[in-house]
Amino acid sequence: MITPNMHYRDLKESYLFAGIAQKVKKYQMEHPEKHIYRMGIGDVSLPLCDAVIAALHEGVADQANKETFHGYMPECGAQFLRETVAKHYAERGVILDADEVFVSSGASDELGDILDLFDRRSSALVIEPAYPAYVDANVIAGREIVHLASGKEDGFLPEPRENFKADILYICSPNNPTGAVFSRNQLQAWVDFANENGAIILFDAAYEAFIEDETLPHSIFELDGAETCAIEICSLSKTAGFTGTRLGYTVIPKALNRCGMNFNAMWVRNRTTKTNGVSYIIQKGGAAVFTPEGQAQIKANIQIYKNNAKVLMEALDQLGIWYTGGKNAPYIWLKCPNGMGSWEFFDYLLNEIQVVGTPGEGFGACGEGYFRFSTFGSPEDTKEAARRLCELLGGK
Ligand code: PLP
Repeated sequence: MITPNMHYRDLKESYLFAGIAQKVKKYQMEHPEKHIYRMGIGDVSLPLCDAVIAALHEGVADQANKETFHGYMPECGAQFLRETVAKHYAERGVILDADEVFVSSGASDELGDILDLFDRRSSALVIEPAYPAYVDANVIAGREIVHLASGKEDGFLPEPRENFKADILYICSPNNPTGAVFSRNQLQAWVDFANENGAIILFDAAYEAFIEDETLPHSIFELDGAETCAIEICSLSKTAGFTGTRLGYTVIPKALNRCGMNFNAMWVRNRTTKTNGVSYIIQKGGAAVFTPEGQAQIKANIQIYKNNAKVLMEALDQLGIWYTGGKNAPYIWLKCPNGMGSWEFFDYLLNEIQVVGTPGEGFGACGEGYFRFSTFGSPEDTKEAARRLCELLGGK
């Protein structure tokens, strides 16, 4: 009889988003007249920008004509998009060959698939609180996971320590859920650690477009020596509203080698085996993000989310509640007031002011006592949620 992958049994029940949805549904059924202020969602609310929509239409029109029709696309990405992304990196001083850029259907797909490059006996270090997929993808693969707790003391930006033994190092900066961003020096310490120990960093840059402090690195390849120890996984989901359209890119330097194996060449082989490329139309739309018009338009959308962040941060400042994030990330991570637990605070906000956030405990045990607000909601709802927070917590 076939043996299934028994590691699926080791996955913890993903209670976080299902638990939130269940509680909100119950509340709504009991209080149908109340509006819910959703500050918990990780999905964007603004539509694709005009430059992308125009390019998507062009892509559709191309597919209607024999002369411009595209069949299978190159497995590693259309040359025009690989070159466009490489040019975008060059504008920040990171020089890449176009064939170091791989087009993907998004960061989630890639974060799971990329593990094909590593031996199952390799271990994975996850800085927690963390995006839950890092842990789950490695549990499914049967890998040993080293959980590194971070906290208020280190600003949720822990340093590498001598005694860590891990082969794959997940770093997400700007971070989901904490919104914390590694400085150049802090990230350099991780790059040096990886090079010294032969480890590889999987750098999740899904939120790089939210960085406004220009001293902070957008890409790990801005750091010395990263090309020999890092893979960067990026996405247009939050940068340009592609959550439902699906497009991302991954950078694997040609200088990345271990045990006589080259990771760039391995990924070419992986993609040519496991995919038939990303839709031409979507890649055409994605390329428009990097045009001057596209950049101006996505920045205007990001600014709307940033204004939401400002509104929430002002409310927390006024209330004297400790938080991180918000300035260079679309998430605000706060300490639950009055010693409340994450789910206790969740219930309190839902029941008292109909504001929904995300309990920090869902991102790892060290997230207990913390709470995440997302800034992807509407400005109107965000303002009202902030007002209600001040009213509820200000009097205590
Ligand atoms: N990485 C992080 C840290 C995320 O928060 C998300 C989505 O919320 C992703 C990756 C997945 O992005 P994508 O929509 O490109 O799959």
